[in-house]
Amino acid sequence: MGEKYDVAVVGAGPAGYHAAIRAAQLGLSTLCIDQWLDDQGVLQPGGTCLNVGCIPSKALLDASHKYQQAQSEFSTIGIKAKSVAMDIAQMQKHKRSVVASLTQGVSSLLKSNGVAVMAGHATLGADKQLTVSSDSGSPVVIQAENIILAPGSRPIEIDACQRDDQCIVDSTGALAFDEVPRRLGIIGAGVIGLELGSVWSRLGSEVVLLEAMDAFLPGADSQVAKEALKQYKRQGLDIRLGAKVVGSQNEDGEVVISYEDAEGLQTETFDRVVVAVGRRPQTTDLLEDASGISLDERGFIKVDEHCQTGIPGVFAVGDAVRGAMLAHKGMEEGVMVAERIKGKKPQVNYDTVPMVIYTHPEIAWVGKTEDDLSKEGTEFKAGVFPMAASGRGMASQETVGLVKVIADAVSDRVLGVHMIGAHASELIAEAVIAMEFGASAEDIGLTMFAHPTLSEGLHEAALAVSGHAIHIANRKRR
Ligand code: FAD
Ligand code: NAD
Repeated sequence: MGEKYDVAVVGAGPAGYHAAIRAAQLGLSTLCIDQWLDDQGVLQPGGTCLNVGCIPSKALLDASHKYQQAQSEFSTIGIKAKSVAMDIAQMQKHKRSVVASLTQGVSSLLKSNGVAVMAGHATLGADKQLTVSSDSGSPVVIQAENIILAPGSRPIEIDACQRDDQCIVDSTGALAFDEVPRRLGIIGAGVIGLELGSVWSRLGSEVVLLEAMDAFLPGADSQVAKEALKQYKRQGLDIRLGAKVVGSQNEDGEVVISYEDAEGLQTETFDRVVVAVGRRPQTTDLLEDASGISLDERGFIKVDEHCQTGIPGVFAVGDAVRGAMLAHKGMEEGVMVAERIKGKKPQVNYDTVPMVIYTHPEIAWVGKTEDDLSKEGTEFKAGVFPMAASGRGMASQETVGLVKVIADAVSDRVLGVHMIGAHASELIAEAVIAMEFGASAEDIGLTMFAHPTLSEGLHEAALAVSGHAIHIANRKRR
């Protein structure tokens, strides 16, 4: 029989390690279990996010963006960069070093906070009993008053195009290409398809995205989605909507993809294909029937708004439960659960989860879209500021995009903010804070923003809600 803990956390991804560190900070004896090992068998905490998700993808997005700027934007501002070349091996080395620093950083944080860490695969049985199996010995049984399940998610696979880890890969494979594919096919024009498609397109691939749905980025504001589609096409991404992949064949190191669209059956040949059609919860092999934990029809662990499962003392957080599959959403859930175990009463505000797509321009939003509000019958006003009118945007060659603020027609309370443009991933935090504090559009309009900044776009869009924007042509007197 293993040791007894106040809290045992399964998974050291962003949801799990936040839960474990917060629990330990609160004085609870805490164990964190994870099965992610490197080639030498050393535990790599950080989950999908640090190892094969948020962080490595941003390292490649940033490197490829700088390469593209050096190639096509520097000359306008007088920088003469002769023979700019991309060293893919060095780019990948940089990515690996960032990942290594951060995973080691999480290990240190767990240790310095007094969290016990165990490598192995955990299974939950009856009476909250956790069994951890590993190659290094017999299974260990853990007793814990409280268990937090944070097992994360993995890519969805499709029969029509099965991964072979050579020509047909998932996002993990697409983060590790050691050369630029000449022709890259991506199945799914969602977040991963657009981010990784942008990376390899900037580095020279001819990229075709096959998207089953007719609508592009249906969760985004429709004006933002329309502008995004225009910009991506301008950058050379060939995005084909309403394209349902029905088969694939590997022929002499090339992949022939068959898909159906409005015109009938089509084929395309690629050197590499990335399947990026969504992710599913990693709940297989985690729960014995006797655990009593219920899953929904898509395999997500059923929880209430406080991430409590049907079994007292067992919680679940992150990608494995309902809601957006985003690192920051899991982090906040992890912290909330640790604090609730200690008797505090925090909540996660699911109405203010920011969403970002890290392409260039970046896309970011928080709250409701105009379509959401029209559907639910809420009257609203919207103010839009085009980044083409931003002084800082012009000075820094970042004039593409817009900021939109949507406010309740009666109370003026901000209900949603939508952006496309440079640094939208940073700017959206201002909108999240405003909404978290229940701000009205007028409150944002009355706030002083530093000049010249891209943030002024948010200020102007908020003023535009009532027609007061200074830098937008407007003849009405208000
Ligand atoms: P995970 O990070 O998946 O961690 C789960 C952990 O649990 C893993 O370490 C796993 O080894 C462990 N585990 C699972 N089952 C067991 C078990 N039975 N026993 C022991 N250990 C177990 N999100 C963003 O917010 N921003 C981004 O920019 C972003 N970019 C992404 C880019 C890519 C390419 C991908 C694939 C994802 C990206 N995401 C991004 C999503 C983000 O990675 C996830 O939302 C986040 O990692 C979920 O955190 P989690 O802790 O719930 O799960
Ligand atoms: P996604 O849900 O964003 O996009 C998947 C796309 O694939 C959808 O547009 C869907 O219509 C399409 N699709 C599904 N089946 C298809 C098929 N058979 N043929 C063609 N198209 C098909 O999922 P993703 O891009 O795989 O990302 C997975 C998760 O990872 C997302 O939920 C996202 O939250 C997270 N993620 C977040 C970020 C970020 O925050 N910037 C980055 C990467 C991943």
